[in-house]
Amino acid sequence: FLSGKTALVTGSTSGIGLAYARALAAEGANLVINGFGDEAEIEKERAALEAASGAKAIYAGGDLTKTEGCESLMQAGLDAFGAVDILICNAGMQYVAPVDEFPVEKWDQIIALNLSSAFHCSRLAIPGMKQKGWGRIIFTASAHSLTASPFKSAYVSAKHALAGLAKTIALELAEQNVTANCISPGYVWTPLVEEQIPDTMKARRMTREQVINDVLLEREPTKKFSTAEDIAAVALFLCGKAADNITGTNISVDGGWTAQ
Ligand code: NAD
Repeated sequence: FLSGKTALVTGSTSGIGLAYARALAAEGANLVINGFGDEAEIEKERAALEAASGAKAIYAGGDLTKTEGCESLMQAGLDAFGAVDILICNAGMQYVAPVDEFPVEKWDQIIALNLSSAFHCSRLAIPGMKQKGWGRIIFTASAHSLTASPFKSAYVSAKHALAGLAKTIALELAEQNVTANCISPGYVWTPLVEEQIPDTMKARRMTREQVINDVLLEREPTKKFSTAEDIAAVALFLCGKAADNITGTNISVDGGWTAQ
């Protein structure tokens, strides 16, 4: 149902972003993928997306902690397809440390990537969406856009702010058929989660098993990790006709975490 539409997904070489790209391609969308990784692996994924969609898929790099990186990514999408109809701001990173020991450069990086890149990509996609009278903006926020955990000051701050940005965009574009929403996962088993385990072990003086069971799944009443495909299915729903009047919301997929 997305043939003829173009979707750009930031941070789509891995994890949830890659699942979004695959789900959108399966519905026939043109794709712009972005993120870091092995060149040959990325090319393989790009070709697979094209094969799945029967449409066009391009890879555009760009370090999204930098304004210029966001601008060159969006320009690549606009040059290739004329407009970006579906923007999914998903690139994100985590760092775990007590606030009074939090490395300043990590704070700056996380705010730049998890928050400011969504602002930059949105501001550059919106004129084309307005012109076409249709658009979907989706941010991968987090349960941490609604609640906090210790040692994640930058991440929690950026994700709370991202939810505010989505609401603001939703209001500004409410009459132009452009929706803006957040999807807020609890824990999804991806490299981002896997990679924070060693630091959490250090910060909390715990074993790997204790971190998985007592810190991660402790927050989710269902005691389950979501899959990246579960999250992508929500994004597809938000792109569909039934979601035409859903805007400014923050959809939790968190096993009851934020119900507590
Ligand atoms: P991931 O580490 O698997 O993927 C992150 C993606 O972002 C990769 O493609 C990576 O190359 C890209 N990226 C990293 N730094 C970048 C930069 N400077 N410029 C451009 N791209 C960059 O992570 P994930 O778990 O799939 O996370 C995706 C999003 O979901 C993030 O915003 C994360 O905060 C959010 N999230 C994840 C979980 C979870 O449990 N995994 C839970 C809630 C929210």
